[in-house]
Amino acid sequence: MFANFLRPSNLSKKMMRVIFSIYLGVSCLVTSGQFLTEYWETQGSILDELKQLEEAVRGPIATSLWQNNQAQMDALIVGLIKMPIVEGVDVLDKSGKNVIFKRSFPITATPVSMFDTRAQLYWTVNDNEVYLGSLVLYSSSEVVLNRVFFGFALLALTAIIKLSVLFLLFIWAFDRHLTAPLRELMSQINEVQLNPTISKRIDLANIENNELWLLQEDINKMLCAMEKNRGDLLGDEKSKRIWLEDAVTKRTEALQVSNNKLKELAARDSLTGALNRGSFFETAQHMFVLSQRQKSVASFVLMDLDHFKQINDTYGHFIGDQVLIHFVHTIQDLLRRSDLIGRVGGEEFAVFLPDTDNDSAFRIADKIRKSIGSSICEIEGQSVSYTVSLGVESSETKDQSIDDIFKRADLKLYGAKGKGRNRVES
Ligand code: GH3
Ligand code: MG
Ligand code: MG
Repeated sequence: MFANFLRPSNLSKKMMRVIFSIYLGVSCLVTSGQFLTEYWETQGSILDELKQLEEAVRGPIATSLWQNNQAQMDALIVGLIKMPIVEGVDVLDKSGKNVIFKRSFPITATPVSMFDTRAQLYWTVNDNEVYLGSLVLYSSSEVVLNRVFFGFALLALTAIIKLSVLFLLFIWAFDRHLTAPLRELMSQINEVQLNPTISKRIDLANIENNELWLLQEDINKMLCAMEKNRGDLLGDEKSKRIWLEDAVTKRTEALQVSNNKLKELAARDSLTGALNRGSFFETAQHMFVLSQRQKSVASFVLMDLDHFKQINDTYGHFIGDQVLIHFVHTIQDLLRRSDLIGRVGGEEFAVFLPDTDNDSAFRIADKIRKSIGSSICEIEGQSVSYTVSLGVESSETKDQSIDDIFKRADLKLYGAKGKGRNRVES
């Protein structure tokens, strides 16, 4: 509890500690001043009372001394010493010697501070005053303190009660009007932080129109601005995301198209547009496997332009290239869309004819041969005519791959060349 007072975590208690400590310090100083003043005033009034007492007993004591009446003297002294303000009584004879020495306390416990009143004792004989001695009445600081303390204890008690009540009232008021609203404010700010949409607003109870209300309004304005910014950012982000997704989709489609084109280009011979050797055999192999599974006959035509070296030598390489292009275009017109044309060598071409028996393949091959042999290729003012030799082979059930048919077709082509060229061997 005391440690809590010295190091309070609560704002109102902290403020109270400061106020209470200052108030206590000032109260102690003022009270000490009041106490000293009260002490001196009380000591003065006790001295006055001693003097009055002295005046009252001076006559009877002088009488007892004059008459040497010891019993009366003792009774007077006992009466005096019983008075609360009297701590001691001395009666001295005219030579200053103690006749009476009486104290209300044991001699070993003499009070620290003592004060006294002194009066001369006279006896009047025939209008002459005879000096008999003196009377001294003592009082002490303890008597003064006893009287002061009583009044002071009352003062201190009421002061402590007032201070405690004040302290509790201040704590209550601070707690209600400052600490509790601040705690509530912190808890509501925490709730706002946990809320992902920032839509919540601060709403404190019991704050009327004070600084806390202004603070609440400012925080709410800030939250409104934050919510708006967040909305703008989210909208901006959403439109950017849509734009980005759109751009990515378009770019992916473009890439797909380019990719397909690249694949197509990679699969084709750049000069004639026919499939290159690799792609031709790969696709032909697929078609061959399919036709084998369907128990259908497919045919393979291998073609080699005759004396092509001579064409190059006679007309030049460029015209040789144009002849190769002319050859592919010519045979394309004679084939079905499902037939496969490939360039399998420099001036060697192959055609895979699915679902085509040997006779049909022969007829197609011969049509090619005739068409090429009868065509005249016009290039840059030059008329070039050429022929082609063809070997035809058809699939057999024992064939494992397209290579088996190709090898047989190659032998047929070799035969066609051997038999004078411009002919079909099947
Ligand atoms: P054969 O009747 O025995 O087939 O005789 P050939 O001259 O056609 O055969 P050979 O193998 O001796 O010559 C083929 C020629 O084809 C040689 C080569 O320069 C030519 N050639 C190969 N590829 C191309 C090409 O892409 N363009 C051109 N212009 N010529 C090519
Ligand atoms: Mg050749
Ligand atoms: Mg040739």
